[in-house]
Amino acid sequence: MDMISIDGLHFSYGNTQVLENVTCNIEQGRFAALIGDNGAGKSTLMRLILGELPLGREHGEIRLMEEDIRSFRRWNQISYVPQNGTAGYRNFPASCEEIVAANLYSRIGRFRLPGKKEKEAVHRALCEVGMEDFKHRLIGNLSGGQQQRILLARALVNEPRLLLLDEPTSGIDEKSTAEFYRLLTSLNKKTGMTILMVTHDRRRLADMVDDIWLLDDGVARYVSPKKKRIAPADHKAFTGNRFPRHPASGADQKSGDPSAEATQKARSGKEETAHGNL
Ligand code: ADP
Repeated sequence: MDMISIDGLHFSYGNTQVLENVTCNIEQGRFAALIGDNGAGKSTLMRLILGELPLGREHGEIRLMEEDIRSFRRWNQISYVPQNGTAGYRNFPASCEEIVAANLYSRIGRFRLPGKKEKEAVHRALCEVGMEDFKHRLIGNLSGGQQQRILLARALVNEPRLLLLDEPTSGIDEKSTAEFYRLLTSLNKKTGMTILMVTHDRRRLADMVDDIWLLDDGVARYVSPKKKRIAPADHKAFTGNRFPRHPASGADQKSGDPSAEATQKARSGKEETAHGNL
């Protein structure tokens, strides 16, 4: 099953076309990376997947868990770790435990205190990221790597089936970055949670992820993680109307890369947005 499937996606901000014809898919249980130069449209694509940007009829199709995003309502199964997500918390007088629990408000209600079940969920999430001993600490007093793990716990507390991360390690030192990646890999293996991560960290990708999608010139190109270097030619390889799906998808093959046809379907609006937005 595809957790995310995108067909013939176009998107512009006014006259600035960012995504021209994006077709790609992430299968359930995969750990996928989305890479591309600055301004390639990675964050825009993430915002579209999260339902934060409206998807008009003319924009193409996004399906989440095999359901058209326009009618998708299971946003509590999707979590998001945004770029620079700790920025708003540095001087915020909330403990790590409170910050993680805040993501349960949709479950417990904004003005109720967390009950036993919710406290256990928070504890579990903090244990998952190895930060249970820090639960009473203010997030502003933690290192960048530790803060990022708290944000990951915050995203995990709802036990999502799909986790999206936008450059989660920017500004974090090498050692903490490696630990954070190891944590993601083990969570993916242990829980089967599907992960899509925007990253610039191409160097480590090969050993870590199952799939790499490269955004370039408004299109998405599948790159095998086994390829240690991403050649400039890869950026330009697919610029027609048909684009590769990753080889595990089983779609019709063309020169070793299967292809998918772009489709366009109607949008009928959405009611909720994804949890985990800070
Ligand atoms: P990336 O995440 O790959 O760096 P973005 O999706 O942030 O790329 O941006 C893609 C392009 O869209 C850039 O040229 C950026 O300036 C432009 N852009 C992003 N957000 C907006 C916006 N809200 N309004 C207008 N242009 C935007």
